[in-house]
Amino acid sequence: MAIRRIVTKEDNILHVVCKPVEVFDEKLAQLLDDMHETLEKAQGLGLAAPQVGIRRRVALVDTGEEILEFINPVILKKSGKQRDIEGCLSCPDEWGYVVRPNKCKVRAQDRNGEFYEVTLTELACRCACHEIDHLDGHLFLELVDEFVTDEGEE
Ligand code: ZN
Repeated sequence: MAIRRIVTKEDNILHVVCKPVEVFDEKLAQLLDDMHETLEKAQGLGLAAPQVGIRRRVALVDTGEEILEFINPVILKKSGKQRDIEGCLSCPDEWGYVVRPNKCKVRAQDRNGEFYEVTLTELACRCACHEIDHLDGHLFLELVDEFVTDEGEE
């Protein structure tokens, strides 16, 4: 395993649509293993492949109980609303309030290509939405309705 460099928002790869994963091979497993290690080191809640320079629909989401591997994830259903402070490993020192659904159902593939579905709420739902946005070239900054300073207050 290896720690990969996390790119910042100036990098074009964070602003393009990522390509679906079609081959579930050792290279994908290696990418996922590296992303786990990179996420742990960075102490984040989620990480998308474009953040480590890979233009593929792959993301990790920490639910608080486990770290889900999302390959080609799709949000099937979303409901409710939550508004809270969000940040991003690719946007260090930028924080702001974002409204997200409070609950979502995601369909994704695992590293072997098997489909599964998972329902996420609250912070895990926020994290999933944030990471899936990355796969479509979107940053949370586009959704912030109020930025906060380092002190957590305006
Ligand atoms: Zn992010």
